[in-house]
Amino acid sequence: MTTYLLERAWLPSPDGGRVHDDVLVEVEGGRFTRVEVGGGDPAATRLPGLTLPGLANAHSHAFHRALRGHVQRDRGTFWTWREQMYAVAGRLTPELYRELATAAFREMVAAGYTSVGEFHYLHHRADGSPHDPPLAMREALVDAAATAGIRLVLLDAAYLSSGFGAPVEGVQRRFSDGTAAAWSARAGAGPAAIHSVRAVPRAALGAFRGRDPLHVHLSEQPAENEVCLAAYGLTPTGLLHAEGLLGPGTTVVHATHLTDEDVELLGSTRTNVCLTPTTERDLADGIGPARRLADAGCRLSVGSDSHAVVDPFEELRGLEMHERLSSGERGRFTAAELLDVGTAHGVLGIDRCGRIEVGWLADLVTLDAGSPRTAGTGADEHTAVFAVTATDVTHVVVSGRVVHRRGDEPEVGRLLADVIARVRP
Ligand SMILES: [Zn+2]
Repeated sequence: MTTYLLERAWLPSPDGGRVHDDVLVEVEGGRFTRVEVGGGDPAATRLPGLTLPGLANAHSHAFHRALRGHVQRDRGTFWTWREQMYAVAGRLTPELYRELATAAFREMVAAGYTSVGEFHYLHHRADGSPHDPPLAMREALVDAAATAGIRLVLLDAAYLSSGFGAPVEGVQRRFSDGTAAAWSARAGAGPAAIHSVRAVPRAALGAFRGRDPLHVHLSEQPAENEVCLAAYGLTPTGLLHAEGLLGPGTTVVHATHLTDEDVELLGSTRTNVCLTPTTERDLADGIGPARRLADAGCRLSVGSDSHAVVDPFEELRGLEMHERLSSGERGRFTAAELLDVGTAHGVLGIDRCGRIEVGWLADLVTLDAGSPRTAGTGADEHTAVFAVTATDVTHVVVSGRVVHRRGDEPEVGRLLADVIARVRP
């Protein structure tokens, strides 16, 4: 059993949450067994600063970490970015993938993410033939997460066509199992993903009904909507609905370019929506209707996606700031609502995670409340979403295990630099 005395901590309350001083928590078997405000225990490990529950990275492609600082240099569009991403995707062996993902996941835990939904589609060798063993790339991710100490939900993504039935080409051969049946035979049961309505033809969509959790990239670019309408007479949201794929077990990622009817369909089916503000701004995707989706009934989450930025606080701040830019209004989300978005581990199928509460998974993210960024900001939920950056994270616990301490950052930097130098073309 481990006991912590948290100087200040964000605890659940009927109105969404509240900061308390001197919170004594006991951890046993990876879960909180005691949470007591005003408690004392001379043997407890003291964690100064502001402690939050673990933050969920609901959408990641670990290998995209090798793109940061390079893909931002040139002019272009989402589609020219994709060519550069494919060049890195083409070079990864299982061993390089394991090293790159280990370093990327360590950056995530250092930033306060305690769970990651890894949207995985690099299944095969560059020519499309299976690895030996066939799940070598998945195993690389599992090993990487175990080493880094992050909780992994591996969303095995089906990618069967290059666009609305066109055969895969080039690097995409690494992604494709050919048919939904072959994907299912390889992927087995468990968390699943449809890469997008571009990459899985309508006739194959039925194979994914009932999968929970099921994640899918949706309407990130207007071009996807236009081609989907031309092919099926439906928007991507309308197509997923017609195929019975929307609902509380499904998370759509981006949801940037939606019609009013799409928003209504996603909300009325209680479909989850994952926004990735720092990626969406980097790729010039646009700004999704986050407030309208939340009001319609969608559970929101965030993800670092392309890893242009790995900072959960910047994602949450970005969600609110993008809303301000697009609506002309301030305060579209409260700080408590944003922390609720940031702790949505449930959209990855993880039960009882994201609260400092007895019986819940023991994740703790402690922030320096006296840094140049955070000093004088109140050391409360507003500090967490309007002042903190990932640099202010001092101590991270996942299921009771300490996975990051202040001072680990140079080692994480060295790991990233070393592997990225070998991965990049
Ligand atoms: Zn993505």
